[in-house]
Amino acid sequence: MNYFDDKIKDILISEEEIKAKVKELGERITADYKDSGRELIVVSILRGSLVFAADLIRETNMPITLDTMVVSSYGEATKSSGVVKINKDLEEDIVGKDVLIVEDIVDTGLTLAYLKKNLMARDPHSVKVCTFLEKPDRKEVEVEIEYCGFSIPDEFVVGYGLDFSQRFRNYPGVASLKPEAYM
Ligand code: 5GP
Repeated sequence: MNYFDDKIKDILISEEEIKAKVKELGERITADYKDSGRELIVVSILRGSLVFAADLIRETNMPITLDTMVVSSYGEATKSSGVVKINKDLEEDIVGKDVLIVEDIVDTGLTLAYLKKNLMARDPHSVKVCTFLEKPDRKEVEVEIEYCGFSIPDEFVVGYGLDFSQRFRNYPGVASLKPEAYM
């Protein structure tokens, strides 16, 4: 019996689809940055993008530096306020470097808008964004996203790093949950 079987409602994206998409993104990133002559700092936003970032960097074929940030949004748990608290900052100095923010999902875009502004203020050469998922229907602020895995409808999803109450990050696809799974 698979632990997830009776908890998953619909599988929105399969493990195979993810694998193919991550490979494609890794190849695009490599093509775009490999001849830049600058250091590329890949910034994984924890904890949600951990699984995506781990797979993505292994599909790149060039030198990269991996760094991480932990951020949390002030306000209600289910609603992004746009005011972001940095719980763990970068280890690296990013002055004059190319920065690629790796996110799990862009929902309203408020978290990303804050992060991008915060990193831009540190005087890097560039800051671009690679998100695994985006929900276009929920967008509240315009933030440029250079690399996007999948656009999904406005539905709460879990898996491939995304959680509900810290669970389901280890589900290998992207899925919605049955009501019972929220209890
Ligand atoms: P934003 O500031 O773009 O509204 O918030 C993005 C954050 O909201 C994500 O990093 C993630 O933590 C959370 N989030 C938004 N939609 C979902 C979803 O469908 N599933 C999960 N697990 N988290 C989500």
